[in-house]
Amino acid sequence: MKKFLARQRQEGFFSIRLKSAAGTLTAAQLLAVHELAKNFGAGFVNLTSRQEISVPFVKEKDLDAMKNFCAAHELKISPLGTIFKQVTACQGTQSCPSGIIDSPKLARELERLHGGRELPNKITCAVTGCPNNCMKVDANDIGIKGAVEPKFFVENCIYCGACARVCRVGAIEVDRARKFWTIDREKCVNCGRCVKACKKSALSGSVGYKIFFTGKDFFPLIHDEETLYKIIDSALKYFSEHAKPRERLNKMFERLGTEDFKNFCHKEHLQ
Ligand code: SF4
Ligand code: SF4
Ligand code: SF4
Repeated sequence: MKKFLARQRQEGFFSIRLKSAAGTLTAAQLLAVHELAKNFGAGFVNLTSRQEISVPFVKEKDLDAMKNFCAAHELKISPLGTIFKQVTACQGTQSCPSGIIDSPKLARELERLHGGRELPNKITCAVTGCPNNCMKVDANDIGIKGAVEPKFFVENCIYCGACARVCRVGAIEVDRARKFWTIDREKCVNCGRCVKACKKSALSGSVGYKIFFTGKDFFPLIHDEETLYKIIDSALKYFSEHAKPRERLNKMFERLGTEDFKNFCHKEHLQ
């Protein structure tokens, strides 16, 4: 059975964690959190690193009443333990000018697919909308980053150099006199700034996803959500089947290496 109460250092008190939908709570939910903290806790809440709301100083006898209150006010209590944890997300295209992907939407879908899934140990997952990486996806077991792959159309280029000037990593080289344009794909961090800067339709960008496992970049840019979900599903299957009880993903990689894992996920990727 799933556990919901985390024991506090103060005898007889517990905390519960409320989910946010990828970092978002409605005004009505915030009012309900206010009531919850006032009536069942100590009148305050804490924000966790997983974008959850922790309500401390709860008594075990109040858990059922709290569950009923939460159900009536569209608040979800996070289960504890060795599970797929709440997916964290930045605002992405919902409001950030740098956003490439809709991070909260993606996080909510991952939450729907895997939220609370029992695993040998916890899996953390974060979605960040662009290479600025505000969500520090490399510090999670699974990280997803919005990315743009620039495509060049030589017939439209006037060699103005605007794309090269906005590229923060110096991946583009333009020589007007020689009518020369080139991109170093190794240097490119897929931010899409060059695509936005080109006013001559000489660059277009296909939006995609970079996926990281414990900060490791095993796969090329993924172009569709369905493939991304397949890879994550197979990664979780592999973890369930190969990790020892209480073993974290990075420790499993240290013990088994990553080749078999990559091949297993890649098989799904190519289907
Ligand atoms: S990662 Fe990018 S899209 Fe997300 S908040 Fe930061 S700058 Fe905006
Ligand atoms: S900004 Fe566009 S037109 Fe100008 S050099 Fe770059 S690709 Fe060519
Ligand atoms: S996508 Fe970003 S990093 Fe890549 S070439 Fe364009 S501006 Fe540079």
